Amino acid sequence: MRAPATSTAPVRNRLRLGGISLALVLAAGCMAPAPDIVARMPGGEPDHAAWPADTGIAARIRTLELHGDHEAILGLADEARGQLQGVSLARVELAVAKALAARGRVPSALVGFSRAERIVRDAEQDSAIEPALPRAIQRAWADAELSLGRRASAARRYEAALAYEPMPVREREALCFSAYVAHREAGDGEAAAWRARVRDPHAPALAALEHRLLTGVPLGVGSVSSAVIAAASGSIPADPRFLVPGVRTRAEWGARPINGSFEAMEPVRRITVHHTARPLPAANRASTAAEMRAIQDLHQVGNRWADIGYHFLIDADGNVWEGRALRYQGAHAGNGELNRGNVGVCVLGDFDRRAVGVAQRVGLKRLLDSLCEHFAVGPTTVETHQEVRPEPTACPGRHLQAWVTSYRLGASSTLARQ
Ligand SMILES: [Zn+2]
Repeated sequence: MRAPATSTAPVRNRLRLGGISLALVLAAGCMAPAPDIVARMPGGEPDHAAWPADTGIAARIRTLELHGDHEAILGLADEARGQLQGVSLARVELAVAKALAARGRVPSALVGFSRAERIVRDAEQDSAIEPALPRAIQRAWADAELSLGRRASAARRYEAALAYEPMPVREREALCFSAYVAHREAGDGEAAAWRARVRDPHAPALAALEHRLLTGVPLGVGSVSSAVIAAASGSIPADPRFLVPGVRTRAEWGARPINGSFEAMEPVRRITVHHTARPLPAANRASTAAEMRAIQDLHQVGNRWADIGYHFLIDADGNVWEGRALRYQGAHAGNGELNRGNVGVCVLGDFDRRAVGVAQRVGLKRLLDSLCEHFAVGPTTVETHQEVRPEPTACPGRHLQAWVTSYRLGASSTLARQ
């Protein structure tokens, strides 16, 4: 089950995605907005302009923000505060405050926005600051206030954001429209004037924006249609339950956030099966959850990896548990190259010492079938740790090795029933 930690290389896929989104935004202008971009970005409008080329922990937080991984951002906050200052620190405080707001901790988020604003104001005394950052702070702050029903205060902040020029036309449209919504909800008589400043109030992007402002969630997120789209495309769904129905999520076993160095998952092209080589915990939720936390501890604290190394684990009853979120590359197969595009699947137990039980065989087969189907890879891409690792390893034990060999040969349906 051992493999070296992943490297600190930049998360290319996501950065590329960010670049494409920005290019689309710039190309679209205000007359032809791209509503799907607004709808897909967690927390609404992306703040690309507020994030120039940061390195180290600031870059990691930027990547997590593009992923919408609020849990991980909050996990890195204290470490980032210890390392950063000035504008970089203000960006991190903004990301943390937005993560808090996204998780419903809006009063704490307001404190964070105010902290970010103060840091920018102090930094401004030394040198000029790009307007995108203070504008992003005011805008996210206004969104949070609006979600608390503080409409007049939110409207004033949208107006304050508009003072930070220059800005893309599309952003000005969104800010004027947000000010209109806030004034309209406040009923203060200024709504009409703000609506008149919006060039195309019927643009689909603004309908999506209004939905997010008034409900707190982006249009389409969590709906059946987004699940179907994710399932159809072979992309990695944000919610693992779309991929593996009934999977026990990280929240269910009390996972700590991902931390340290990690990379985005590349398109899935292989699957590697492991065993824990540890005693199989009793077939109940509490025992399995404790085992999950113990494995995360071994990997995160003992091995200093970013997170638990495997993406999915199978318990004594054949239930699938979510390990490292699939959107991140795992640490399980060997060196970093072997982990690329590789889903790590681990069966709890020591299969040199014991046979693979019926429930575990059925659960493993169901998981492998669903991964192969979703990512359109054949059963020949399912290998075991000892088959892919150049150095010898007993993983996944002789009994599980025999089962995987048979699975690949297509005899798995009979094996699962034995
Ligand atoms: Zn292994």
